[in-house]
Amino acid sequence: MPGYSLIRPFGFFYAIILILVLTYLWYSGRWKQKAGILLLLVSAALGFFIFAPVAPHQFQELVVRDVSALGVSLMVAAIGLTVIIILTLVSGRFFCGYFCPVGALQELASLVPVKKFQPRQKHTFMAVHAVVFLIFLILAFVFSSALLDYFGIRDFFGLALTTGSLVFLAMLLVSVFFYRPFCRLVCPYGVLLALAGSASFLALQRTGACIECGNCERACLVDEAKRDDRKAECYLCGRCTDACPVSGALKFGRRKQA
Ligand code: SF4
Ligand code: SF4
Repeated sequence: MPGYSLIRPFGFFYAIILILVLTYLWYSGRWKQKAGILLLLVSAALGFFIFAPVAPHQFQELVVRDVSALGVSLMVAAIGLTVIIILTLVSGRFFCGYFCPVGALQELASLVPVKKFQPRQKHTFMAVHAVVFLIFLILAFVFSSALLDYFGIRDFFGLALTTGSLVFLAMLLVSVFFYRPFCRLVCPYGVLLALAGSASFLALQRTGACIECGNCERACLVDEAKRDDRKAECYLCGRCTDACPVSGALKFGRRKQA
């Protein structure tokens, strides 16, 4: 699509600038979770209007070296995706939490007020995700095949009715009951961001004001609210801070050594 390629980088600028803004707002304690819904709606809309920053797909296009689909050079795409990884190393997974259109739609689906399936086998999910990542790489490098095409991301955001877009829609329906299935089990770029998130310089952590009531742990849908959790799967959703009864018991700041 001509024009598509020229406008797509704006999706990445939008994400990068607002990751910095959110980092500042969370760090200074000025963040209001209600504003997150607006960001999620804007991010999801950008997926439909300019197909950016749909990072899982653009990461795949980079890996399979599909320059025509990327709309920018491989170097520019590599720089954009690397900048997001660096920002995740600084402040955690704000990109996944609020700016990736695939993540935004799953987050919006998770806001439907029904009881969630909340399994605690975080490490099993991570292991499955690692295997899927390996399959993604083998398919890309050995068979020149693109795993994400089976999940219909491009078709869905292009409003094309295909088997793939129905798979994506089904995945969104699952997201109502099970938090972010695509991010936690499939997304190849998410594997890299989880690694970066687990080592981020800033993170949401408990302070000495915590009374160990456990509300944050019960509220967290990814089992990342315990004291020593690395936050690899923390999407900065704010469920734990909303559930916490003590002001100042959870703070976004410099990560303490575990
Ligand atoms: S894990 Fe992947 S799909 Fe999910 S928000 Fe992050 S980049 Fe997007
Ligand atoms: S509930 Fe808290 S720890 Fe769990 S994902 Fe959301 S922000 Fe992160």
